[in-house]
Amino acid sequence: MMLVIKEGIPQEEIERIKTKLIKEYSVDIHESIGKNYHLLGLVGDTASIDPSVIQSIDIVDNLIIIQEPYKKANRKFHPTDTVVDILGQKIGHDTFTVIAGPCSIEGNEDYLSISEKVKASGAHILRGGAFKPRTSPYSFQGMGEEGIEIMKEARKKTGLPIVSELMSIDKIDFFVENVDIIQIGARNMQNYNLLQEVGKTNKPILLKRGLSATIEEFLMSAEYIMAKGNENVILCERGIRTFEKYTRNTLDISAVPVIKKHSHLPIIIDPSHAGGKWWLVEPLAKAAMAVGADGIMIEVHNDPQKALCDGDQSIKPERFDDLMSTLKNMSVLLDKKMQ
Ligand code: PEP
Ligand code: MN
Repeated sequence: MMLVIKEGIPQEEIERIKTKLIKEYSVDIHESIGKNYHLLGLVGDTASIDPSVIQSIDIVDNLIIIQEPYKKANRKFHPTDTVVDILGQKIGHDTFTVIAGPCSIEGNEDYLSISEKVKASGAHILRGGAFKPRTSPYSFQGMGEEGIEIMKEARKKTGLPIVSELMSIDKIDFFVENVDIIQIGARNMQNYNLLQEVGKTNKPILLKRGLSATIEEFLMSAEYIMAKGNENVILCERGIRTFEKYTRNTLDISAVPVIKKHSHLPIIIDPSHAGGKWWLVEPLAKAAMAVGADGIMIEVHNDPQKALCDGDQSIKPERFDDLMSTLKNMSVLLDKKMQ
């Protein structure tokens, strides 16, 4: 339920009504103020609230009932695009952000060399997995905390923020202290305890779409994080399971405009996990920019054939460099900022 406040109402009066609503209905209030609007969104169990009572409050111009189950993630609650700021690097609205790096950190020298190369090509953020959600328990599981230490060294050398996947609650403090964006992987998209715990932090969260999650389920997972107070959520479409087996997943390109219509949160695309093949990365990355995504996340490896994880879908730094030039040219045509 959202209250559209009449123009020219003094803020003290609005505060008085907010306090009253919180007390009477045990709800949270999400306030959104724009050039031509002032909105109060009621978050919580609003089913028992009588709309006619709210409509009769004298500062209320109009009442909008939000049908969708996601509220804080809903564009109706927050009409303008959310821009998430990571150490000055912005994701959202008119910017196209590129996150690059290997699937997993495999060693110090390799990681630093890839980081320096992708930075030279214009990447904005470094990726790297240290705790890996592998299908087989016998596959390389990542370097753990040591991997994050290597990423920190790369951050120091390149000045770029770092993002890595958190898999369990017991490592939250370590991640909050050491990384700039916490990634929640596809397999954990519906791990509601984990979502709630990262929701209590103030770290930007990169939330990947679950393997078989609908768009609404995806947005509800963002809502779980936001409901605990952390509104710095970046969504990532990484392909979903369909009957098609040729590609690792099916990139749901239409999820981008659909999510942009219904949510104010930034959404990026991961062409590497979507296609699962290195030669699909470039066309899918171009599609990401064309469809209006706020960025991409790409796996880059010095020697993909020897990669310990996801070599088939990793591109070499030289190819990444070419891709960045193509995207920069496209960004001029599409009026997207690529700093
Ligand atoms: C990843 O980005 O390294 C990853 C494991 O992706 P996803 O969770 O989308 O499979
Ligand atoms: Mn991977």
